[in-house]
Amino acid sequence: MARIEYTDWTVPVAQVGSRAGQTMQVDRDFPAPGGIGDSIVGVKEGEPIHVNGQFDSIIDGLIFTGTFTAPVTAVCARCDRDLSGDWSEQVTAFFPYEDADAGKTKNEDVEIIAGEEESGDTYPLIDNGAFANIEPLLRDTFVSALPLNPLCKPDCKGLCPQCGLDLNESPEHVHEVTDLRFADLEALKEQLEREQGE
Ligand SMILES: [Zn+2]
Ligand SMILES: [Zn+2]
Repeated sequence: MARIEYTDWTVPVAQVGSRAGQTMQVDRDFPAPGGIGDSIVGVKEGEPIHVNGQFDSIIDGLIFTGTFTAPVTAVCARCDRDLSGDWSEQVTAFFPYEDADAGKTKNEDVEIIAGEEESGDTYPLIDNGAFANIEPLLRDTFVSALPLNPLCKPDCKGLCPQCGLDLNESPEHVHEVTDLRFADLEALKEQLEREQGE
């Protein structure tokens, strides 16, 4: 027998995989895998992601449906305001059995139908369907769900580019514009006009 590498994300599912129509509940925390997001928005590696859902066995694999809830750290991309908080995502994923029945016409039909209806992602089971590794599912779910540019509100005015003041709190804030280039041009223009007039 092949040795299984147990990870923090390996869920034993043999009890539901034995035949179709079985259900297994999952309701616990898993450590966040690395690589979700960045310093603007992301889930820190090792932080607990709560998984609440169930594996249901159908003829050609397991379907996981449930909710992932992760502590997302985020700041507004414009004003740096802290937007951290729990983020929940509904998930549906398919874990097909390795094609033990490959070659049967019946199985091909099932796969075509599954392919058409499949809206969620597909992940492999390991050790002949004994374990489901949900790490890629956790990662993919949050990587695709998190916004690239989180904003504290859609019309966030951001920070003053010159002094860093929060423009949401001081919308009237402006700096006296004394642009030396224009001041020089103005002086040159006056000088030329004087010379022409002479
Ligand atoms: Zn903001
Ligand atoms: Zn300013």
